[in-house]
Amino acid sequence: MKLTVKPLKQKDAGRGLAAIDRVSMRELDLENGDYIVLEGNGDGQAVARVWPGYPEDEGRGIVRIDGRLRQEADVGIDDRVTVEPADVSPAKSVTVALPQNLRIRGDIGPLVRDKLSGQAVTEGQTVPFSLSFGPMASSGQSVPLKIASTSPSGTVVITDSTNIEISETPAEQVSAGGGPAAEGVPNVTYEDIGGLDDELDQVREMIELPMRHPELFQQLGIEPPKGVLLHGPPGTGKTLMAKAVANEIDAHFETISGPEIMSKYYGESEEQLREVFEEAEENAPAIIFIDELDSIAAKREEAGGDVERRVVAQLLSLMDGLEERGRVTVIAATNRIDDIDPALRRGGRFDREIEIGVPDKDGRKEILQVHTRGMPLTESIDLDHYAANTHGFVGADLESLARESAMNALRRIRPELDLESEEIDADVLESLQVSEGDFKEALKG
Ligand code: ADP
Repeated sequence: MKLTVKPLKQKDAGRGLAAIDRVSMRELDLENGDYIVLEGNGDGQAVARVWPGYPEDEGRGIVRIDGRLRQEADVGIDDRVTVEPADVSPAKSVTVALPQNLRIRGDIGPLVRDKLSGQAVTEGQTVPFSLSFGPMASSGQSVPLKIASTSPSGTVVITDSTNIEISETPAEQVSAGGGPAAEGVPNVTYEDIGGLDDELDQVREMIELPMRHPELFQQLGIEPPKGVLLHGPPGTGKTLMAKAVANEIDAHFETISGPEIMSKYYGESEEQLREVFEEAEENAPAIIFIDELDSIAAKREEAGGDVERRVVAQLLSLMDGLEERGRVTVIAATNRIDDIDPALRRGGRFDREIEIGVPDKDGRKEILQVHTRGMPLTESIDLDHYAANTHGFVGADLESLARESAMNALRRIRPELDLESEEIDADVLESLQVSEGDFKEALKG
């Protein structure tokens, strides 16, 4: 039976889950906690654990999986996948490889087992392991663990009695197999964005559809879109969104920073623009992200300068001349939409302008969920409360709030840390928790 792929809610990502509505579960003869194989049209495959679907999905034939599983199964949002029961056995032992820069003293095995318990893994796979501590621990981020070997072999499920061994070889040197995203493709998924569902839908329609199904546009005899312009206050997720779209469709990602390009010597700005467009066409499908478009293309009467005029002209001609129409798309962002040169807003240069506003309470909660997903929170923390009390905060502010809270937790255990040592004690890691007080403190700060 085939189901339609949708993203998971932010809070459920990163745990190897597939949320399937009850009706479909019944038809497939599945129960909560069963393991399934998901297969798209490509040769990708992902194994996931069945989880109760969201009420709004009831009877719609939907399976929700996160960005990692979508990548493994080689499917995108709205694709159809085949779902079948998976043949998995409990893992007797699993050897995992940690990234090189993560040095831990003592046995981190139990912590890994706790976090990965219930997940299905296969040799060669990379699984995220959330750790709000250590060199890679900015909030919400996780450490990529490599599954070096399993016993028995095949797809196995980590249980409370699985023995977790830590490999002597760092993850970087364990041979790849479904490894992290290809070079040039960012690693952000839709589950990393909170409060922007509608906006994301609009961007996907403009960009994903033409890239994945150019036939549709050919059939209709219309030109695929050239680009979208995202506008709204800083820190609301415009860059994040561009990266997520690129990642979901495995598109090459090129960034142009407006201020940076304008600081070049005479003639170099245009040259650089040309180079970026060339690079994108060579690596198509590709997304060119132009950040702070206003600093390139301010209204002419204001900028007035010769350089600005030439750079805008160059940008216009590059956008008009895109040969790989639909396979290379421009996403531009600005905090100052009213300052943008009207020439760039006319004539279908940007097929749509999408406003990315300050998040409301529900949005703030989703964003907090994204940035605390990897954190060991004490149970008393009520994210609703913090969502309600952070009026006016944008995504970037909420991310700092989460990070500051984690830093407060760190400060509490600092006396126990041996700062001379390059390694971290596994026991200390295990005892680390972000508490209500840490959040309160951070909000005051
Ligand atoms: P913009 O491009 O709109 O100025 P960014 O996308 O660069 O903002 O956001 C900066 C950081 O703030 C992001 O990397 C992310 O951690 C956080 N952030 C911003 N908006 C969101 C959001 N909607 N959901 C989750 N995190 C967000």
